[in-house]
Amino acid sequence: MTNLYIDFDGVIVDSIAVSYKIAEEQNVVENLKEYQEFYKKLDWVEVLERSKPINNSWDCLEKIIDSHKFNVAILTHVNSIEEIEEKVKMIRKHFRDITIISVPKTISKADMIKAEGSILVDDYVGNLDEWKAAGGYGIKFDLDMDGKGYPVIDRLDVLIDMID
Ligand SMILES: [Mg+2]
Repeated sequence: MTNLYIDFDGVIVDSIAVSYKIAEEQNVVENLKEYQEFYKKLDWVEVLERSKPINNSWDCLEKIIDSHKFNVAILTHVNSIEEIEEKVKMIRKHFRDITIISVPKTISKADMIKAEGSILVDDYVGNLDEWKAAGGYGIKFDLDMDGKGYPVIDRLDVLIDMID
């Protein structure tokens, strides 16, 4: 079975858009340092309460698991312990036993996981570039179907027919 790693923010739920909205509401200035501080202190209870699944992601994930084609894990960058706690709580409402891997934001996903021969579905090209450089296979998740050089999907269940 192929190892399939699925990003969380911007792939399973629209939490990135929600976090931008909260930054706007809090008048966070657009510089890197303030953003980093903002994300360390961000209230993930609020973020996930306001986030919605993207294109039936929970049902799609279930179909992917039921296809028995993949070893599935959720691979997510995190900025705080609270972020891990809240993400795990939310995912466990849907799946009792899916593997959840949290990666500190400062570390590449490809440094945390053996990328070689494994698939990463992610909405951020930087992650896909690092994954590819490490010998992995990247798939871009993009609602505008802009793959930026990668195979692209806008809903997760199409992976089942896409990969042999
Ligand atoms: Mg993402």
